[in-house]
Amino acid sequence: MTKRIFSGAQPTGNVHLGNYLGALRNWVALQHEYESFYCIVNLHAITLPQNPALLAEKTRDLARIYLAVGIDPEVSTIFIQSDIKEHTELTWVLNCVARMSELERMTQYKDKARKQQENISVGLFDYPVLMAADILLYHTDLVPVGDDQRQHLELTRDLAIRFNRDYGETFKVPDAYIPKAGARIMSLSDPTKKMSKSDDDPNGCVLLMDDADAIQRKFKRAVTDSGTEIRFDESRPAINNLLEIYHLITGQTPQQVEDHFAGKGYAQLKGDLAQATVEFLQPIQQRVREITDERLDQILDYGREKARQIASVTLEQVFQRTGIKR
Ligand code: ATP
Ligand code: MG
Repeated sequence: MTKRIFSGAQPTGNVHLGNYLGALRNWVALQHEYESFYCIVNLHAITLPQNPALLAEKTRDLARIYLAVGIDPEVSTIFIQSDIKEHTELTWVLNCVARMSELERMTQYKDKARKQQENISVGLFDYPVLMAADILLYHTDLVPVGDDQRQHLELTRDLAIRFNRDYGETFKVPDAYIPKAGARIMSLSDPTKKMSKSDDDPNGCVLLMDDADAIQRKFKRAVTDSGTEIRFDESRPAINNLLEIYHLITGQTPQQVEDHFAGKGYAQLKGDLAQATVEFLQPIQQRVREITDERLDQILDYGREKARQIASVTLEQVFQRTGIKR
């Protein structure tokens, strides 16, 4: 049987190179090998305050990005999380399987809660359980994500194993697919932090929809390390990050990248990187503009029906196993 993929991104802001290189790129690459479900996780988005009108718009924008980067709706299912009520229903059941102590250990929660201080929602704490429900509903084999989601994937596996043990074999235990390169693209303004949609500093992120001026400006302002040599070196995180982006965007091997920049300076690195990024993003941006509302509705309607068929069967089974339904 064809193995299945599930993954998603939040419509919390604008998609950036980290999202693309860490996740979306692999969704595209894997979609012909696996039966793929790519979700727009708007219920996750409201774990932090969002502007309601903007959230609805961003949800559709993100679907356009999925299509424009190459997710093919003929082979992959694209849908909106809130369209399938089973995601929230399974979350409740899994809430009763998850332990407070394991959620308290989640580093994303701790990081995001630190930034929120006063108004930390219960939803933010519960974020990983909703994510587990997303994945487990579809009997997922593989979850292509960035490195920051590694811990949440472990939790998903633990919840599946615990549920299966307590109620009988129900869920497939999924594996994470975290790429060797691109799994953790760092902020251009602070190479100790990952590039993030929810980052307050707009200069840290290169967005997929940025125009040439913005791309040039952001790379120009990017923080660098001391020294002058341009080569892959994890002890120099800023240059390492820029080189990793260049390597993935151009498709050149690390050796070719180092040869290309041998004897050159940081200004050249930033200039060439900006140029390569502009050229890479231009056709993606063009495709985003070409997708009509009508076409988008069609794809999302189809995705909803396809996802619902699977999710409803899984939830029915879960309700029976737990004694909620006979
Ligand atoms: P937020 O700050 O709102 O959490 P985000 O930038 O982390 O936004 P998500 O929608 O949470 O984006 O994540 C979508 C996918 O992108 C996930 O698979 C995540 O692991 C991946 N991802 C996010 N940031 C990076 C990054 N800097 N490098 C590589 N992958 C990333
Ligand atoms: Mg995130």
